[in-house]
Amino acid sequence: EKKAPLDIKALAKELRAGSRAALARAITLVESRRADHQALARELVQMLLPDTGKAFRVGITGSPGVGKSTTIDALGTYLIAQGHKVAVLAVDPSSARSGGSILGDKTRMARLSASDDAFIRPSPSSGTLGGVAAKTREAMLLCEAAGFGVVLVETVGIGQSETAVCDMTDFFLALMLPGGGDELQGIKKGLVELADMIAINKADGDNLKRANITAADYRGALHILSPRSEHWHPPVVTYSALAGTGIADLWQKVLDHRKAMNAAGDFAARRREQQVKWMWSMLEQRMLARLRSEASVRARVKKIESEVADGHLTPALAAEEIVKLLH
Ligand code: GDP
Repeated sequence: EKKAPLDIKALAKELRAGSRAALARAITLVESRRADHQALARELVQMLLPDTGKAFRVGITGSPGVGKSTTIDALGTYLIAQGHKVAVLAVDPSSARSGGSILGDKTRMARLSASDDAFIRPSPSSGTLGGVAAKTREAMLLCEAAGFGVVLVETVGIGQSETAVCDMTDFFLALMLPGGGDELQGIKKGLVELADMIAINKADGDNLKRANITAADYRGALHILSPRSEHWHPPVVTYSALAGTGIADLWQKVLDHRKAMNAAGDFAARRREQQVKWMWSMLEQRMLARLRSEASVRARVKKIESEVADGHLTPALAAEEIVKLLH
């Protein structure tokens, strides 16, 4: 039995009108691996492009247990009370392997998921980090076209996925725990160089004093590192997602950052740079996908690969051969 062809013009219209069901269907289309779906998805995103770009795009990272979902629940609820519509997306490259993402899970964000002004979508499970990130970025554009003024993109504290999320957002927020003493893990991992702000969560009860000490430690460490932009020195704040203290302040920093970046012209520059970077990343994805999808090409690549392994063909010539296959 043949299904009726998908009417993407109608889908675009419903999505623009703010339908969450249409948004969910559109993201499913973007995530589909079917070639015909992918072609339709590209058309849909291009169609909606004029309606994109207006949201606050905020990346949120932190180790498991740091309080990402509690924070997103609290921040999202706060923003909705301020009149925003809030979308939550996630980048979890391990979801393909584990068969399910814990990031962007509605059950972890009880208050937010009960709101009509929120849209929560777990990470796509599409194999490579590049694939997951590309799909999340397209989903973000769809959310914007559907009128979501804030898009929060969650990721776990693993180097590469953090870079990917940083590359698709305007503000990158690193969550930390009140630590004991001088082990500032984030600094070691280079995360701090990506972060536009460090926020120490769980600054409540017995943790309060430790949180303040940790914040001072991070401030000291940040002082030594050169900031990413000369117009923004990443602040270090403390807050409690559970108690809701410091959430308004946290968002104020996002607004301050936007203002400073706009004044310096850095905001538009960062978006332009990201767009071009994403074009290259999509191109890379598609070229690799071509090499992997067509059986004849795949067989030829396999053969070239074994010739290289056996030392009969130089890697340089092999690369040349493979590039020819893409024509
Ligand atoms: P995630 O894995 O980063 O998403 O972390 P969760 O949001 O699931 O939180 C992990 C645990 O920390 C849960 O038991 C939360 O209740 C707790 N938690 C989160 N935020 C706070 C906070 O501000 N204060 C305290 N004391 N606990 C918190």
